[in-house]
Amino acid sequence: MDEHYCAGCGVKIQTSDEHALGYAPKSALQHDPVVCQRCFRLTHYNEIQAVSLTADDFLSMLSRIASRDALVVYLVDLFDIMGSWVTGLQRFVGNNPILLVGNKRDLFPKSTNDHKLMSWLRRSAHEQGLKPVDVLLMSAGKNHGIEEVAVNIDHYRNGRDVYVVGATNVGKSTFINHLIRQAGEDAVITTSRFPGTTLDFIEIPLEDGCSLFDTPGVVNAHQVAHFIETRDYKKIMPTKEVKPKVFQLNEKQTLFLGGVARVDYEGPSKRSLIAYVASSLLIHRTKTEQADDLYARQLGHLLAPPSEGVRLPEMVRFDFRTEETDSDVVFSGLGWITIKGRGARISAYAPKGIGVSLRPSII
Ligand code: GDP
Repeated sequence: MDEHYCAGCGVKIQTSDEHALGYAPKSALQHDPVVCQRCFRLTHYNEIQAVSLTADDFLSMLSRIASRDALVVYLVDLFDIMGSWVTGLQRFVGNNPILLVGNKRDLFPKSTNDHKLMSWLRRSAHEQGLKPVDVLLMSAGKNHGIEEVAVNIDHYRNGRDVYVVGATNVGKSTFINHLIRQAGEDAVITTSRFPGTTLDFIEIPLEDGCSLFDTPGVVNAHQVAHFIETRDYKKIMPTKEVKPKVFQLNEKQTLFLGGVARVDYEGPSKRSLIAYVASSLLIHRTKTEQADDLYARQLGHLLAPPSEGVRLPEMVRFDFRTEETDSDVVFSGLGWITIKGRGARISAYAPKGIGVSLRPSII
């Protein structure tokens, strides 16, 4: 049999094992382009099919980059920044320069200050031990900022190959599809709402004989998508700009973000808290002294998602005192709560593994 590679994800096609990677029925080989059954289902039914590739396999594929002389374009999801960091990326890419691109800018309100957003992204990268040559923002899904990223890639690659890397679900395929479309080719790389849909390296030739490589998305255990069932994930993951919801809280009052996060306002005095989360994630307010009891009785009911009967990792508590005038308590992948004014004492809770952090307000 001739060798075929899936036009959607790049995997080698095989026709013998329906449950293994790259399966396509023999009849699919008559089609042009050939796609594996997994990509076919994703494209036509928006349905993910599990395949057996481990995080180790992904990482060993990535480590091939260290021995090349190339520009690394590192895509992160601005809305799930903690879930976007690929642990040890610096080691995998060696001494190659990194261009850091924050995607999904469109989920943030229009009033967001891009400079503040970029300096937060840069600071977060430094905390990960990364020193990117530049930091950019874009919305691949909305086709905003892609041209600027493309121009910068060309500038920083300086005649070298390019590797686009990132965790699953940050929007890498969407971005690459745009690049291909700009180049006039048919876009057939798979994109979907579910994490983990791009497999193996995909090579895209550049004008000067170099190549741009799309790499497999690294599965990151800190991504919210891994904690939450698909049906619940759709409720907590915004698909458009998050809108502010303002709450005036007295001392010792609590906000629940569905059943997936919680903020206790300890004081002092009365103050505004502004929630920026998906509109389908309902916010429930209660007295802090009643919060534990409410959580125990109402998780999966009044406090949902998660759906009834779904167990999340245990809640972890983070204590903050706001220093800046306005601060954001960020729940990576869920959104954030702006605390107006300095000196507020806050306790934030999220399931173990979901990143919770404080940043100067970006609005
Ligand atoms: P990959 O796993 O990194 O290749 O990510 P995909 O390109 O498959 O995208 C993952 C999900 O994020 C899909 O549901 C996309 O529609 C969505 N997405 C990609 N780019 C953007 C963006 O700029 N804004 C928003 N809101 N969603 C995006």
